[in-house]
Amino acid sequence: MSFRIGQGWDRHPLIQGRPCILGGVLFEDSPVGPKAHSDGDVLTHALIDALLGAASLGDIGQLFPDTDPQYAGFDSLKLMKKAWNLVQKKGFIFQNADCTIIAEQPKIAPASQTMIERLARVLGVETNTISIKATRGEGLGPEGRGECITAMAIVLLETGKDS
Ligand code: MG
Repeated sequence: MSFRIGQGWDRHPLIQGRPCILGGVLFEDSPVGPKAHSDGDVLTHALIDALLGAASLGDIGQLFPDTDPQYAGFDSLKLMKKAWNLVQKKGFIFQNADCTIIAEQPKIAPASQTMIERLARVLGVETNTISIKATRGEGLGPEGRGECITAMAIVLLETGKDS
């Protein structure tokens, strides 16, 4: 049995009046949201890149260019489903993902379990294989000043007979 690890990282500016969607969950009370061509779901974007990275299948920008009008406001969970289908076609089996969100707002913890459930459903995996953590910038850097939201993800895949 062998394994492949992948990492993903994404960052978007946070601006007033934009919907804030993370892990497919709308944070209705958030006064700010990520500015983006798609729905700006940084967590899902980081996870997509980690999945693609583990499988050496390129990155989210190559698969879903932000110059392509069909991806304007696109549901990132649907992008992840497309990416995951490609990874699975290579024979990989999901082991686990560990994610971290860095932002001053919104408050992540109350929605963590719902985000995990949504992501796990799209990937067809158990909820206990996905972890979502959150931290703040403590006043430092663009996250700490509330200018942006950043997400990081690490994924472990098991190689199958075709991968
Ligand atoms: Mg992004």
